[in-house]
Order: sequence, then structure tokens, then C-alpha cells
Amino acid sequence: MRRENCDRCKGPTDNETTQSMFNEEVICMDCKDNETKDPEYDAACKADQEAYSLGIRNFKGALPDYKPLERG
Ligand SMILES: [Zn+2]
Repeated sequence: MRRENCDRCKGPTDNETTQSMFNEEVICMDCKDNETKDPEYDAACKADQEAYSLGIRNFKGALPDYKPLERG
């Protein structure tokens, strides 16, 4: 899951990426940081763990149409 550019913000990843907890995007650590501050993040983690424990291997994420919160 290497990306030169973040799926979400399209910025350079500096070779450090992670899977979004909300959907299937591969995102940079800045976007990950924003995700963890999202009020839905805990629920998304829980949904992901539940899918895993149910044996769902093609789980698309808690919010496939997730859009990050706007921050001014
Ligand atoms: Zn990003």
C-alpha cells in the first residue's frame, strides 16, 4: 500500500502511509491524525473490529463515502 500521494489530500506522503479507518483510502499521516480527531473515529474502529471478528475480509470501511471534517 505504498502511495507517492495521499488518496485523500493528494499531498506527498513522504513514504509514510496508513489505511484509513473509515474507508479504503491509503492516506498520509496528517490525514490519519485528522481522522483520529473525528468524533466518528471510535465508532469506525469498532465497526472495523466487528467486521474482522465476523470474518468479513472485504470490509469497505465504516463510511465508504467518508469526507474529512472541514477545518479552517
Ligand atoms: Zn493526506
